[in-house]
Amino acid sequence: MAAETLEFKAELKQLLHLITHSLYSDREIFLRELISNASDAINKVRFDALANADKLEGNTDWKIKLTPNAEAKTLTISDNGIGMTREEVIANLGTVAQSGTKAFLEAAKQAGKSGEAPGLIGQFGVGFYSAFMVADKVTVVTRGPGSPADGTRWESDGQGAYTLEAAEKPARGTDVILHLKDDAKDFLDQWRLRSLVRKFSDFLEHPVTMDVEKEVGEGEEKKKEVTEETLNSRKAIWLRSKSEVKPEEYDEFYKSLTHDSDGPADIIHYAAEGKTEFKVLCFVPARKPWGFDYEEPVAGLKLYVQRVLIMDRCEQLLPTYLRFVKGVVDSADLPLNVSRELLQQNPLLDVIQKSVVKNVLESLGGMKNIEFDKYLGFYKAFGTVLKEGLTRDWSNREKIADLLLFESANTEAGKFTTLAEYVGKMPEGQKDIAYLIGESAEQLRHSPYLEAFRAKGQDVLLLTDPIDEFAIPQLGEYKGKKLVAADRGEAAGGGDVPDGDKERFKALLGALKEKLPDVADVRLTNRLTESAACLVADANGVSAHMERLMERMGR
Ligand code: ADP
Ligand code: MG
Repeated sequence: MAAETLEFKAELKQLLHLITHSLYSDREIFLRELISNASDAINKVRFDALANADKLEGNTDWKIKLTPNAEAKTLTISDNGIGMTREEVIANLGTVAQSGTKAFLEAAKQAGKSGEAPGLIGQFGVGFYSAFMVADKVTVVTRGPGSPADGTRWESDGQGAYTLEAAEKPARGTDVILHLKDDAKDFLDQWRLRSLVRKFSDFLEHPVTMDVEKEVGEGEEKKKEVTEETLNSRKAIWLRSKSEVKPEEYDEFYKSLTHDSDGPADIIHYAAEGKTEFKVLCFVPARKPWGFDYEEPVAGLKLYVQRVLIMDRCEQLLPTYLRFVKGVVDSADLPLNVSRELLQQNPLLDVIQKSVVKNVLESLGGMKNIEFDKYLGFYKAFGTVLKEGLTRDWSNREKIADLLLFESANTEAGKFTTLAEYVGKMPEGQKDIAYLIGESAEQLRHSPYLEAFRAKGQDVLLLTDPIDEFAIPQLGEYKGKKLVAADRGEAAGGGDVPDGDKERFKALLGALKEKLPDVADVRLTNRLTESAACLVADANGVSAHMERLMERMGR
């Protein structure tokens, strides 16, 4: 049967031009895209085989193979994944921005199986066309589960049309054959290919292989031998023990996970053993990722079951106040093919979350004690987020409180104290922990409210983070000591004033009250040592800082 010529759908010509000329700044990523497609294809057939094992055809030695051919000037990327039928080829490769992978996930969703669907990389339906950045012609030979005669051959120069014909394809899967452009011959080079695979696809579960020629033997015996080498480490490093993982491996994995260009501030890697077993590898970034403040506040870790990704962002594994933590959890105790709904009810997830939270908080505590400067960097980036935990994670609020840093009346500007330190330095007779909320520590240091505390040798925490207004009263107390606002009620006003004084100032207080109708009361105090007067909020009323905030928002 002669090959049929079909036009690309959509404004493909322009789109192709756009994709090959401006979508990707770096054309070497075509290899990442094609390898990812191959990996998705393998995960798809594995997933489908859960319901119908016949689809495997005994072809389960999962592999993505690169074959550079210097003579033909082609680079072939082969996989033994799900393959495509003729209709699927037309739908997926004949239409730009058509993602069969997205359709696959949607079908899984329709069937109520989205939770089961494997983690697939593709979804935009443009990755495949990146091949035309390096190739002036691309040939795809593919077949899904079936027989060798069911294959389809697709070919295009990426200019607006493609040809389609039936083809013999012995094994299920797909070969993508790139006819390399003259200026892209470097992608025939084995070292180049090897380094690109390491760069982009090292943690891929499936082996990316290549036939490599090696000289073996000595002298007369010397001969060339071809061996198939696996180019990616495939090491899901979280499965290894801590002592087996090199710092640069952690770094690399972290970067692949977060796209951060720097390494993490903290690494939390452990294996929980006992009744339930799971492995955890998570990272605390050293700085705020781009867009962090504008994103939906969703936490989550990647959830694997025996290195098979089942959820890219499993929210049950982390509370939102730890949403800066990135990483993976791998549990052999969860069933692979479980729906998202069922998974959410799995009590094991709560067990894992508890364990992760405990370990993250302890690890942060360790960083604070041992590497304070690093901790300070972390705290400046994520302290506000962490404080959300004071109001949400009742069971851990003391642990979170221990991680807080404050400037205080007694610290030098830019230096910090902790609640534990504060309590440790409380002079005899001081019952409560006093704090003052305001815009800046600098401003607060001049506050008349501090005078009375200074006079008694008591310190006052200076809170300047907007969330403190809510979070600190929610915390309520620390180690049995109440947290009280220094500008409110008893803590600020009152004090014992001799009866004689009360008499003496009676007329003045009366006159002031009359002149200041907006003020609830005018009281005599011995708290101020330098200033003549100050405003005090009612113990239960809105604080002065809050009033200013509300005013600014034009309440
Ligand atoms: P995406 O991967 O974002 O879905 P691509 O442009 O990379 O988009 O690929 C388009 C579609 O072509 C994929 O969704 C998939 O359905 C199909 N496809 C591409 N490569 C393969 C392959 N090696 N095996 C099976 N299907 C493939
Ligand atoms: Mg893709």
